Amino acid sequence: AEITTLLLSRIRDVADYPEPGVMFKDITPLLADPVAFTALTDALAEVTVRHGATKIVGLEARGFILGAPVAVRAGVGFIPVRKAGKLPGATLSQAYDLEYGSAEIEVHAEDLVAGDRVMVIDDVLATGGTAEASLQLIRRAGAEVAGVAVLMELGFLAGRARLEPALAGAPLESL
Ligand code: 5GP
Repeated sequence: AEITTLLLSRIRDVADYPEPGVMFKDITPLLADPVAFTALTDALAEVTVRHGATKIVGLEARGFILGAPVAVRAGVGFIPVRKAGKLPGATLSQAYDLEYGSAEIEVHAEDLVAGDRVMVIDDVLATGGTAEASLQLIRRAGAEVAGVAVLMELGFLAGRARLEPALAGAPLESL
């Protein structure tokens, strides 16, 4: 409860960003506060270890900022999942639908193999589309899903329900 209060106090609501009608949750005040950032890193590392993950997948771009220190803390490897066209090696790609149009994410094929147990980390679960696509990538690579861990989920967008089939029983932990 104490950590929830601390973390919430460092998240800023920005109205009409990135477009009119959207209330954006800005985590940069949290990142700038070493006490809050450390508390968040420790909490996500605890989730990672508790679910027996052997690797972390971080989702571009804020999932990199959170996932990298969590991986170091938990003692597991960090794997970036990037927007299409950014990774230099051989990749697996996964397209997914947005409200208007579609997007595509990629991972280096050699970074995920059978036997890996992967925790997906991001800052915000909104519609769940990005996280869902990352779970599909992980399974296509032959790896196992340990779970998804986020700082916060926007409940009114029902991302948890969208993610449920792809989770297939694995946990979604939102702090
Ligand atoms: P989804 O695919 O769940 O709709 O969107 C999640 C992705 O968009 C995440 O990578 C997340 O970083 C970003 N995102 C969506 N809404 C917000 C928001 O209000 N604040 C932040 N920080 N990121 C958001």
